[in-house]
Amino acid sequence: MKTIGLLGGMSWESSILYEQLINEGVRDRLGGSHSADLIVRSYDFAAIESLQERGDWAAAGELLARDAAYLERGGAELVLLCTNTMHVVAEAIEAALDTATFVHLADATAAAVRASGIAKVALLGTRYTMEHGFYRDRLERHGLEVVVPDGPGRTVVHDTIYRELVRGVASPASRAACLEVIAALVDDGAQGVIAGCTEIELLVGPDDVDVAYFPTTRLHAAVAVDLALAPQPGAVGP
Ligand code: GLU
Repeated sequence: MKTIGLLGGMSWESSILYEQLINEGVRDRLGGSHSADLIVRSYDFAAIESLQERGDWAAAGELLARDAAYLERGGAELVLLCTNTMHVVAEAIEAALDTATFVHLADATAAAVRASGIAKVALLGTRYTMEHGFYRDRLERHGLEVVVPDGPGRTVVHDTIYRELVRGVASPASRAACLEVIAALVDDGAQGVIAGCTEIELLVGPDDVDVAYFPTTRLHAAVAVDLALAPQPGAVGP
């Protein structure tokens, strides 16, 4: 089994879900008392949020690249960045890795959307994820048409993430507001919805929507388990 390094704490509300899902995935596949082989670097999210607000992506990239290399030196063979938003600095992280594989969240998501046969998909996430090109472009390179909420809809989703979800709050009012945003996108022809923020699935689940739902934390964790347990040439047992 490969060792997985997690860059987490962005926010920890979703990182603990990552840890749980990856551990459960390994136990389901290997049975007995097996669990995942993990190294976790978890940040104080307030520090990350302040870099985001200042638009200091260079400093954020330096920090995450340095710590990805630190995970690799500690033995990580796979590195996951447990947030969609911070994939804005994915290139810096990838460049810092020598032998470890960076498992890109947008690729894991795009593969699931493609496998479902859906062509036009709505993307919900932070303002950075919905408005900057780094995430949409990557999805579109996989042949998907990606739509995002209108201005007021983007504000609803972004504010729900930062004012509630990263603080461990999931209010019925925010759930209803996000479902309205999703309904408008479905009315506009979206055949599926990407929960493109690792905390959104703490608020909205697949049973809450009438179209295909792509929860990025679960998709990313599942790909990590597949890669960690993929047979290695010459290896005996897990
Ligand atoms: N976890 C969130 C995401 O997937 C938002 C928090 C952050 O900005 O990292 O985008």
